[in-house]
Amino acid sequence: MIYLDAAATAPVRTEILELIKPLLTTEFGNPSSRHLRGTGAAAALDYARTTAATALGCRPGDIVFTSGGTEADNLAVKGLALAAPRGRHVVSSQVEHPAVLESLRYLERSHGFRLTLLPVDGDGRVDPAAAAAALTPDTTLCTIMYANNEVGTLQPVTEVAGACRSLGVPFHTDAVQAAGWLPVQVRDLGVDAMSISGHKLGAPAGCGLLYVRGALPLEPLLHGGGQERGKRSGTENVAGAVAVAAALALAVAEQDDAARRTAGLRDRFIREVLGGVPGALLTGPAVQRLPGHASFCFPGTAGEAVLLEVERRGVLCSSGSACAAGSDEPSAVLTAMGLDRETAQTAVRFTLSPHTTPADMEHAARAVIDAVAAVQGQQSRDSSPGAGRRRVPGRPPS
Ligand code: PLP
Repeated sequence: MIYLDAAATAPVRTEILELIKPLLTTEFGNPSSRHLRGTGAAAALDYARTTAATALGCRPGDIVFTSGGTEADNLAVKGLALAAPRGRHVVSSQVEHPAVLESLRYLERSHGFRLTLLPVDGDGRVDPAAAAAALTPDTTLCTIMYANNEVGTLQPVTEVAGACRSLGVPFHTDAVQAAGWLPVQVRDLGVDAMSISGHKLGAPAGCGLLYVRGALPLEPLLHGGGQERGKRSGTENVAGAVAVAAALALAVAEQDDAARRTAGLRDRFIREVLGGVPGALLTGPAVQRLPGHASFCFPGTAGEAVLLEVERRGVLCSSGSACAAGSDEPSAVLTAMGLDRETAQTAVRFTLSPHTTPADMEHAARAVIDAVAAVQGQQSRDSSPGAGRRRVPGRPPS
């Protein structure tokens, strides 16, 4: 099977597995314990914090380890908004991940915040001038993702961060999809807070981190023993912290090579699919997109059916129309980009990893072209006269 769903999750890297194995078995310990095992665990946690801080170019004290990207986003959005004294207005975009959007809706619903959700253009990009214009004296937070998970669009985070800085508004970015592909040095980006998830980078699911500039007030979400300097109570997941920090450091070190090589494979794949499937649309921009990201709509062809046909041909990818809890709602990202509902429901996403090979992508392009043709052929047979009767088993023809 060729796995082209790296944006959903990635396998744990063997280096990471080797690194954390002792922490889960022979070298286990609670960092709060005073004995040998506790001090060992505390040292491993320090190592993780320093490693992550070096990868991001920040101070170790600016790192809060979390259970993943969702918790990091929740902590940033709720924690910064609820702690900041400026007012009750937050600026964000219509294409954020649900971890951000639902945190914002919670602030609106339960704490009376006013939200400005910026629209996007046809490529899914926020206009930085519109973001700057949306900031008001009572804006308490601005949060714009670094790169979109559904269409791979890169957002102008440095420009928006600059506008926020000049007005003293804290700026958070969700870098869950960007890390490993794009620079994540927080000072160069000018961000005050940034979310990272372990399982997109070769660490296990269930670990992540939030960079948050130490001087910023942050209301914790979890109360308890005061771990993570009071910002995130709960016995630390030492192995998880070491895993996400080491995976991040490896990804940052390998990023330039990985991005260059993978973007070349992706571009060729996009050309082949657009050339081989009549009417296929690339969703998101041709250039300012994640190096490993290719997403399409095949108008008139059910996305879920294409997914199954592609899988039958040995390729695993995902439906672009992220169906919320099994509903048939088309993707909010695609509709925000101006696609009609029917077209948005035909979306399919292919996400490459740094280990994807040219042979994988050659096979995948062929599989997609054949799969769409097979689904279209089936659909036209189903809609031919008499087909409706054949599709209702057990009922006599009327
Ligand atoms: N943010 C983005 C952009 C994502 O793509 C994801 C997961 O796919 C998340 C946040 C949530 O991360 P996690 O799965 O670690 O909770």
